[in-house]
Amino acid sequence: MYQNCESVWNNCLRLIRESIGDQSYNTWFAPIVPQSLENNVLTIQVPSQFFYEWLEENYVHLLKQAIDTELGPLGKLQYSVIVDKGNEEFKPKTISLPTGKQPKRNFQNHQQNNGNYRPNGGGVTDVQELDYRSPFARRSLGGEEQTSHLNPHYSFETFIEGDCNRLARSAGLAVAERPGATSFNPLMVYGGVGLGKTHLVQAIGNDIKLNRNDKFVLYVTSENFTNQFIEALKANNVQSFSNFYLQVDVLIIDDVQFLSGKEKTQEIFFHIFNHLHQSGKQIIMTSDCPPRELKGLQERLLSRFKWGLTADLQQPDLETRMAIIARKMENDGVYMPTEVVEYLANSVDTNMRELEGVLISLLAHASLNRKDIDLELAKSTLKNIVQDIETEVNIDYIQKAVAAYFNITQDMMRSKSRKRELVVARQVAMYFSKEYTNHSLKSIGQHFGGRDHSTVIHAVQAVNDMLETDSKFKNSVHELSRKIKRRAVNA
Ligand code: ADP
Ligand code: MG
Repeated sequence: MYQNCESVWNNCLRLIRESIGDQSYNTWFAPIVPQSLENNVLTIQVPSQFFYEWLEENYVHLLKQAIDTELGPLGKLQYSVIVDKGNEEFKPKTISLPTGKQPKRNFQNHQQNNGNYRPNGGGVTDVQELDYRSPFARRSLGGEEQTSHLNPHYSFETFIEGDCNRLARSAGLAVAERPGATSFNPLMVYGGVGLGKTHLVQAIGNDIKLNRNDKFVLYVTSENFTNQFIEALKANNVQSFSNFYLQVDVLIIDDVQFLSGKEKTQEIFFHIFNHLHQSGKQIIMTSDCPPRELKGLQERLLSRFKWGLTADLQQPDLETRMAIIARKMENDGVYMPTEVVEYLANSVDTNMRELEGVLISLLAHASLNRKDIDLELAKSTLKNIVQDIETEVNIDYIQKAVAAYFNITQDMMRSKSRKRELVVARQVAMYFSKEYTNHSLKSIGQHFGGRDHSTVIHAVQAVNDMLETDSKFKNSVHELSRKIKRRAVNA
């Protein structure tokens, strides 16, 4: 009998192989193990629920044809689905599922009925009860509001366009207009902290919700996704977790770098991703670095991320920063003179979140002291923040940061050597020490191998000259400066 089921399945495979590509064959058919053939019912074992659904959705006709040819019109196919891989001691746990109709998205909960899935036995009430208790938002309950977890303030309307975000923003608009139907699927937005990733992807979600009422949009941070998954694992409820995600039309998943090293979560995300993508659903992701730099992510997941469009958000330029400040103040109904807007945009060039922090302190100062916002108030507010920077950064840290940037050691920086690259690095570190610490010129000189104050003055002058004439050098110094200031803010 066993032999028989194998040879029947092998014949089926031969037929199937003629009709589909190698890759699909290897992915979806090679892993299948024939189990039994009884009363014309061929049972095949598949590795997961997801696998079963995929076969049923994509290959059911092909399978039917093959079974028909091999077993005649009375032939039937049944799946044995592994729901728990088991280990040395315990055999894999499986459930049997019929073929021939679309699997119901919401059925539940096979573990509770002794491993026998009964399509009608559990009834609809079971499904609803289970969904109700599940930690995930749901859409299936009649008349119940879908929860998208979107912040309505994040819209395209409030997202200021600039050179720094033009590509990402227009890709976002295209996706919002035709979710799942552009080649920007997945859309991956990446960029540093506070550059507007969350704002942009939520704007896409809000836009779709507004114009396409039928679409189920869901925003989730990777952190929440992971936590929900862990909860589901604990509650033996993973099925319900993935079924829920498989219903989503537009999945926005924020900060995917958080999935690093979380193998099991990546696994389930991979399945959800494939399934949604295959069914033409839109996936939108953000990350704090480009996909190729995402560490601890499985290669197969990374390669999926590259299927669509990867767009970056860059540091906003001065004009964009000014526009953002002006818009924020306008939204808050606060008047801010242009000179103040310009002053702030010039002073805070790291990221938008930092800038918002400054605006909030400024508003607080203004309202506490019942003052109008003017240049003087802006300067004194900012000085408090700058003072923090001065107290936190020390020469040692600056030397380390600059040395690392120029790829030399801290000792080399303090040495007597006058090699050109060392001299430049040393001068830059002296320049920052003068800018960001309260040390006297003399003290700074001493920290750099016992040099005198005139060397420091010369260094600062040399750096200032280069800043004016060498734009590449200027970029490097700005980048370093951001790094040093960031540490100051985080310290
Ligand atoms: P990220 O997710 O990249 O860390 P956020 O989307 O949280 O950054 O943005 C930080 C803050 O800056 C948010 O309040 C956001 O509204 C604002 N912001 C960022 N970029 C823009 C922009 N282009 N226009 C308007 N506000 C912006
Ligand atoms: Mg964010």
